[in-house]
Amino acid sequence: MPEIPEVTAFGAYVKNHCLKKVITLVQSTAPQLIKNINLAAFKQILVGDQFESVSRLGKYLVIDLKKSKKKLVMHFGLTGFLTYLHNHENVRYSCVNFIFNDHSELHYNSVRKFGKLWLIDSIDEIKELKNLGTDPLKFSEKQFLALIADNKPKNIKVFLMDQTIIAGIGNEYSDEILFQAGIDPRRTINDLSVAQKKRLFKMMGSVLNYAIKLRMHNLDKIPSGGFFSQVDKDTFKTSYLQAHRHSDGKCPHNKNHELARIKINGRTSYFCPIDQR
Ligand SMILES: [Zn+2]
Repeated sequence: MPEIPEVTAFGAYVKNHCLKKVITLVQSTAPQLIKNINLAAFKQILVGDQFESVSRLGKYLVIDLKKSKKKLVMHFGLTGFLTYLHNHENVRYSCVNFIFNDHSELHYNSVRKFGKLWLIDSIDEIKELKNLGTDPLKFSEKQFLALIADNKPKNIKVFLMDQTIIAGIGNEYSDEILFQAGIDPRRTINDLSVAQKKRLFKMMGSVLNYAIKLRMHNLDKIPSGGFFSQVDKDTFKTSYLQAHRHSDGKCPHNKNHELARIKINGRTSYFCPIDQR
């Protein structure tokens, strides 16, 4: 699922290719993904307008429009991604296609069609955006420790993935952060030592910043399935859990450690029962 690193990369991708171009046509084969407006009105507002600037809020990409002053908001669900093309080509999972005056195109794709798009005046119009927690890259250690103290009875992985507390971390990066911090994802916050909480804070920053750097470096090589293939996961450094998230996965620290796979809050979680305590 696109989390902070992937959505940051999608934002840079749009910024590099699509700003200031006039939209001449919008096509959609999956209008059900557009949430607050019908396709005809969506097209009417966008055609003739331009993408002015791009920002990220949690896992949401927010594109400000120049003429209408509206915001085009994208959420990528489990399998959403963007593809920019200089000329028209058929794109396998394309759901919404924005065509610009230089004939280039931006496709919003979703393999499982679980993404969402909105066209709004203010972010308050989207409940999930209005209730979004703090961006984990903007925390000080002190703020993080205060927040974690406020959520003592919670499971630690549920805490990391709760978008109303921390915005932008999902299933895969919460597993990675806990793996790097050596914390068992089944633990509740109450049971963690101060040293573990501080280590968690440190690893949250280092995992996300490393992954952002990696994604930004590969910006123009966004694979045709987004960032979800095994090949793509293999680009992470070998001490990372990412490439080992499969049924017979071994711990990156020691190949004699079998990774455990359990469901937490309905999400399949991977961890090393020996290294994570
Ligand atoms: Zn291990």
